[in-house]
Amino acid sequence: MSKLNEIFGSNVFNDSVMRERLPKAVYKALRKTIDEGTTLDPSVAEVVAGAMKDWAIEKGATHFTHWFQPMTNITAEKHDSFISPTADGKVIMEFSGKELIKGEPDASSFPSGGLRATFEARGYTAWDCTSPAFIKDGSLCIPTAFCSYTGEALDKKTPLLRSMEALSKQAIRVLRALGNTTANRVITTVGPEQEYFIIDKKMYDSRKDLIFTGRTLFGAKAPKGQELEDHYFGSIKERVSEFMKELDEELWKLGISAKTKHNEVAPAQHELAPIFNTTNIATDHNQLTMEIMKKVALRHGLVCLLHEKPFAGINGSGKHNNWSMSTDEGVNLLDPGKTPHENKQFLLFLCAVIKAVDDYADLLRVSAANPGNDHRLGANEAPPAIISIFVGDQLQDILDQIEKGGVTSSKVSDLMEIGVTTLPALPKDTTDRNRTSPFAFTGNKFEFRMVPSSASIAAPNFTLNTIVAEVLSGIADRLEKAQDVETEIDKILFEIVKEHKKIVFNGNGYSEEWIQEAERRGLPNIRTTVESIKALIQEKNLEVMEKHGVLSRIEMKSRYEISLEHYIKTINIEALTMLDMAKKQILPAVIRFATGLAESINTIKSTGVDADVTAQSELLVEVSSLTASLKNKIKELETSVDKASSLHGDTYEQAAFCRFDVFEKMNALRSDADKLETIVDKEVWPFPTYGDILFNI
Ligand code: ADP
Ligand code: MG
Repeated sequence: MSKLNEIFGSNVFNDSVMRERLPKAVYKALRKTIDEGTTLDPSVAEVVAGAMKDWAIEKGATHFTHWFQPMTNITAEKHDSFISPTADGKVIMEFSGKELIKGEPDASSFPSGGLRATFEARGYTAWDCTSPAFIKDGSLCIPTAFCSYTGEALDKKTPLLRSMEALSKQAIRVLRALGNTTANRVITTVGPEQEYFIIDKKMYDSRKDLIFTGRTLFGAKAPKGQELEDHYFGSIKERVSEFMKELDEELWKLGISAKTKHNEVAPAQHELAPIFNTTNIATDHNQLTMEIMKKVALRHGLVCLLHEKPFAGINGSGKHNNWSMSTDEGVNLLDPGKTPHENKQFLLFLCAVIKAVDDYADLLRVSAANPGNDHRLGANEAPPAIISIFVGDQLQDILDQIEKGGVTSSKVSDLMEIGVTTLPALPKDTTDRNRTSPFAFTGNKFEFRMVPSSASIAAPNFTLNTIVAEVLSGIADRLEKAQDVETEIDKILFEIVKEHKKIVFNGNGYSEEWIQEAERRGLPNIRTTVESIKALIQEKNLEVMEKHGVLSRIEMKSRYEISLEHYIKTINIEALTMLDMAKKQILPAVIRFATGLAESINTIKSTGVDADVTAQSELLVEVSSLTASLKNKIKELETSVDKASSLHGDTYEQAAFCRFDVFEKMNALRSDADKLETIVDKEVWPFPTYGDILFNI
């Protein structure tokens, strides 16, 4: 057995462990719950708990924890040891079915958006047996959903699980109407490509902004950025490569199929992609991946930055959320096959996604919004803030045919001529990669590219699942009633293309023309997180979430509050950190520099030699005037921060003030500081520069 085979999944209570360790009947019952979503019998849980405990103890675990995903983007855990005292003063190792199924962490300090008054602050965790338990740091981790006493979701997993059921239900209705009698479930799948930066720990430690906010709040451009594109897919530096090797191994142990790794566009930026999995497991795995990336980096004297925009002026990080739907029989519903024009099932599911994305673009937009992503979306690098869909040549041609009254052919892909007879002729990809589209069809899946690098991928996926479920339910309603299903399908396709072709755009999403064109088409261009959050309380969005049982009105309202509060807190921390650095580090440094200049002028003059001191004088004037301006900007930012914290009442107004007042003042302050950085002596500058951080590994 190869090493990889040996370690892959070695810390996971996965299917093969279950099959080996559970009595046949128990294994079967558990499998049925996992595969078919049936309710789990408590007696089954009792046996599973026993087997899990024995397995975990053999692997050296001493504790167990319910592992959950509160509204913070990171995971939470509360550890209990397996030990239980006996009458004779010794201990035995215990873990009951009850402890496996349900936990009661004190949850009063997790964000709930007003859902949970403190007197009933207890939250409950419930075992999610569809995602396998695993061992991490000597603890048996049990993936769980987290909810309030009254059953409201306080986490990211619960709506995701609900949305998977909703989509499955509606997709099966459509498949039945198309004559499929064998598929029982439709599963949504996700492969999230994770981007990140790796920097030296010493650099990180000397920058308060990185420590407190995860991004640099100051920093002039280095002489070299990413313009030569020599980092992209370049050979990986040894130190980083050592880190990546260990990361892969740690992930493999947890059954995470880390597959590709490469350098990204920006210096010090990298990417890791796993093989796709169910949306639920992929989401859990992505949370673990982010956690382990940070941990392993530290072991190498490195720090992993997951922030969307750690450095201004060079590319930021995101996640490409590759999403598809497939039946429990393994048929990918977004696989066009060789002749997509004949594949009505594919065309129906494709058009369902197109309509869903157009109808709920605002909901999708907010699912990818966070304060960090505001620095990317619409800022000429990552996808624009406008949601549109790229379908590629072949599908565009088919959509055109549908609109003209019927599809009869599929464009075949050309062969690429490389011009060397010994090289094979490669067929051209019919969904040629358009990197500027926020939502691109890439062969047999959609790639949602707006997703922020630091956030959980739960929200983008439960949003996608729900809005597609909604469109599929409308399609199913029609097909179930139709006299002639074939004719009805053609009608549906025609109507969707006609009404929603405006969301399809195959051109350059970064261009100025597209912004104008999108406006003409009536597509929303929601530039900021704050504005996007409004979508969470729009009536049509409340309706769709409620109808499919994914989030109730109360739960949506609480998420609206949580998102706004998160924004306000983030900006507040950033602003306070900026003020701290500007007042205690930058200002003293530039004053020291100015004093040095003044002393130099005086010293030279005092020699009586008729030397030219224009250079020092000019520099002194420049530095002094910038310093005065900087001091002013500090004052303005302070006033703005004070004002923000004095605002009470409407959370939206507070968040909007943070974005349109505090944040703008932060930018103004930064601009002066960055100018100063470029003229002040490197020796006096109080923290490492972009050049130091990005090019030192
Ligand atoms: P690229 O960088 O060209 O976008 P990658 O190979 O890095 O492509 O990533 C593609 C991702 O899409 C991988 O995580 C892969 O597992 C995932 N993927 C492939 N097929 C599906 C599918 N049917 N559903 C969801 N994700 C998929
Ligand atoms: Mg990609």
